[in-house]
Amino acid sequence: MDVNELYQDLILDHSKNPRCHGCVLNPNAKACLYNPLCGDQIDLTLIVEDGVIKDIAFNGQGCSVSQASASMMSDICKGKSVTEVKELLALFSGMMKGEKDGEDCEELGDAVALEGVRKFSARIKCAMLPWEAIAQCCSNFESGDSK
Ligand code: ZN
Repeated sequence: MDVNELYQDLILDHSKNPRCHGCVLNPNAKACLYNPLCGDQIDLTLIVEDGVIKDIAFNGQGCSVSQASASMMSDICKGKSVTEVKELLALFSGMMKGEKDGEDCEELGDAVALEGVRKFSARIKCAMLPWEAIAQCCSNFESGDSK
């Protein structure tokens, strides 16, 4: 199995068996984003405590890229600090823009499987949507970050 097939399998697996699927109880951050180009929707709910993502869950519908990306993003961001999530976001968007290769982004976990999506410019928005959702959630907690 070459790396492309492996990545393809990971994307399928996450879209069929999404991690962190649903809605957290009493979230203190949420974002609902819609990608009209493809019809993808992501409803993200989080519990952030002391600058750390304690719990995260998403509901959504749309293409397998957007749903797999939401699952991968939620999985990797759970338990991370808001600051770490911002670093992951920068890494992921750098990978999508072709500024970084997946092999240099192992912090992203399964989300490196989405590297190949950048070849299809119309689908980049699908892959980015969940990351834009968590960016929106995290921006509410920016003031809590100590520099
Ligand atoms: Zn899509």
